[in-house]
Amino acid sequence: MSEFVIRELPTLTHVWQETLGWCPNEEQQKDFQDLYEGVLKGNQQMNLTRITEPSEFWEKHLWDSFSGLFPWHMSDLHRPRWAISEANRRVIDIGTGAGFPGLPAAIAFPHWQITLLDSTQKKIRFLQELAQSMGLKNVRVIADRAEFLGHQLSHRELYDVALLRAVGSASTCAEYALPLVKVNGIVVLYRGQWTSEDAQSLSRAAQKLGGSLLDVKPWKTPLSKGIRHCIYLQKQSPTHDDFPRPVGIPAKQPL
Ligand code: SAM
Repeated sequence: MSEFVIRELPTLTHVWQETLGWCPNEEQQKDFQDLYEGVLKGNQQMNLTRITEPSEFWEKHLWDSFSGLFPWHMSDLHRPRWAISEANRRVIDIGTGAGFPGLPAAIAFPHWQITLLDSTQKKIRFLQELAQSMGLKNVRVIADRAEFLGHQLSHRELYDVALLRAVGSASTCAEYALPLVKVNGIVVLYRGQWTSEDAQSLSRAAQKLGGSLLDVKPWKTPLSKGIRHCIYLQKQSPTHDDFPRPVGIPAKQPL
């Protein structure tokens, strides 16, 4: 096992504020540092992330996780018309991997109930221990495939918000997520490059699943100026029982 030295994450208060109109408090910044250290330790046992340098971790894991969540922090004046109220929310992070974007969301919004879903048992065991050691009481974890969970009555149409970052094509993600969210619920897809053709094919897929494309928010990451797009879908009507299709099909044959 290789030795590693854990360094401090940057604070970058002004960058949070200028880009997202929100800034973590001291306690949340300490939690981010604990999260960083936990992920680096976990990385010694399993392949969690290649992003380990502090400012890169800050930008590509922390800041990026919040880029999709910003409408809910904004004042009424600036909040986009589709943003839903500030009530408690049930949020599911599908294909959470090392816990992104779900764990940063759990730290920043203690009143949200966050479910971290991943098909890899080992990652889920790690996340359970990490959330417990950090005292994050609003996190629960599930080791399962999205295609299975989407057909369980105790989860189908349960969630207000679904988050998916780096899990598959946009249409595949829509098929994983739309069955799990309530009517009027929101699906946030974290993407890199995005074209009008991508939007057209996602719209077609979303329609088959009872959803529609609500908004696309382009971003540049604040330090390295990488291209990002946050795609917001809204569920308009219940998803047909045929979806999600059996394991592997949404990825192999996207709608
Ligand atoms: N969301 C994290 C991030 O952005 O850092 C992790 C992304 S990682 C590239 C994709 C994760 O999705 C993997 O941990 C994988 O096990 C999980 N995954 C892929 N397909 C899945 C499915 N059908 N159901 C549940 N998890 C899935």
